[in-house]
Amino acid sequence: ATPMSIIAGVGRAAELGVLVRDADALQKAASADTLVFDKTGTLTKGEPKVTALYTYNETTQQSAVRFAAVLEQGANHPLAKAILALNNEHLDAVAEFKTLKGLGVTGRLNGKKLALGNRTLMTQLGVATAQAESQFQQESEKGATVVFLAVENQLAAIFAIRDPLRDDSQAALQRLRVQGYHLVMLTGDQEKTAQAIADEVGIDHVIAGILPDAKAQAIQQLQQQGRRVVMVGDGINDAPALAQADVSMAIGSGSDIAIETAELTLMHHSIHAVADALSLSKATLRNMK
Ligand code: ADP
Ligand code: MG
Repeated sequence: ATPMSIIAGVGRAAELGVLVRDADALQKAASADTLVFDKTGTLTKGEPKVTALYTYNETTQQSAVRFAAVLEQGANHPLAKAILALNNEHLDAVAEFKTLKGLGVTGRLNGKKLALGNRTLMTQLGVATAQAESQFQQESEKGATVVFLAVENQLAAIFAIRDPLRDDSQAALQRLRVQGYHLVMLTGDQEKTAQAIADEVGIDHVIAGILPDAKAQAIQQLQQQGRRVVMVGDGINDAPALAQADVSMAIGSGSDIAIETAELTLMHHSIHAVADALSLSKATLRNMK
C-alpha cells in the first residue's frame, strides 16, 4: 500500500506542476546528490537561431542556405528549424535522405552528395575542415553550435547557431548548487560550445560530444562512482539516459517519448520546477518518518 504521506505528496506535486507517474520516484529523488541536465531545450530555450554563416570554396550564401534547408526538410532536430528559418525559396525534395543520430543528416540533390552536421560527421566522411578552423573555434568559444555543410565531400559552409539560455536557468541552478547538488550537463554538442554555455549558466561538470546511446552509459558511470542521479531532459535523444537515471524528470513541452519515459513531468518549463520537485520529495519523505 502507498503510504498516506506519499499520496499527499503526489497531490501537492500536482499543485506545483509536477506530474508524478511513479510515486517511488518522489521518494528516490529525496536521496539524489547529482543532477544531470540535457543542454538543448532544457537549460536553453530550445529556439536556436543561425547567428553567422561562413562560406568556402566559392559557395554563395544563397546556395549554402538552399542545400542545408533541402537536407533539414526531413529532420526533426531543433537545429533543423533554425536552418529552415533562413530559407524563403521553394525547396526540391532531397533524395537518399539519412539521419545520423548525434551527427547530422545526409542526402542528394540533383545527384550532388550533401552532408550537414558536426565535425565528427565531416571527419567520418573524409571532408577537410581546416579552412573553417578559426571560425569554428571563435564561434564555439561564444557558445554557438557549429554545423558544417559539405557538397560532394568538399567543405561549402559553416552555420553558427545559438540557442539562448532560459531566463531563469542561471538563478535556478544557483539555488540547487547552494543545496549541495553536483550539477552536470550532458550533450551531443561539441565540447567547447558546451563548456561556454556551462560557464555562463553555472554547471560544475560537462560531458559533451557523445552520441545519443552513450548518454545512458555516462549516467551509469556516475552511478558507478556512487552518485545518485536525477536526469532532467526534454528530447528524444534523452530517453535512454532518462531510463538509466535513478530518477527521471521530463520538462514540459518535451517530446512525447521523454514524457513517457520520465517518472516526473515538470509542467512549468523552468529549472526552478526541478528545485521545487526536489524540495517536495524531501518534505514528503520527512512526513513519512
Ligand atoms: P543534443 O545533445 O544537443 O540533443 P544531438 O545528439 O541531437 O545533440 O546532436 C549532436 C550534434 O550533432 C549537434 O550539436 C549537431 O552538431 C549535429 N546534428 C545532429 N542532428 C543534426 C541536424 N539535423 N542538422 C545539423 N546538425 C545536426
Ligand atoms: Mg537533445
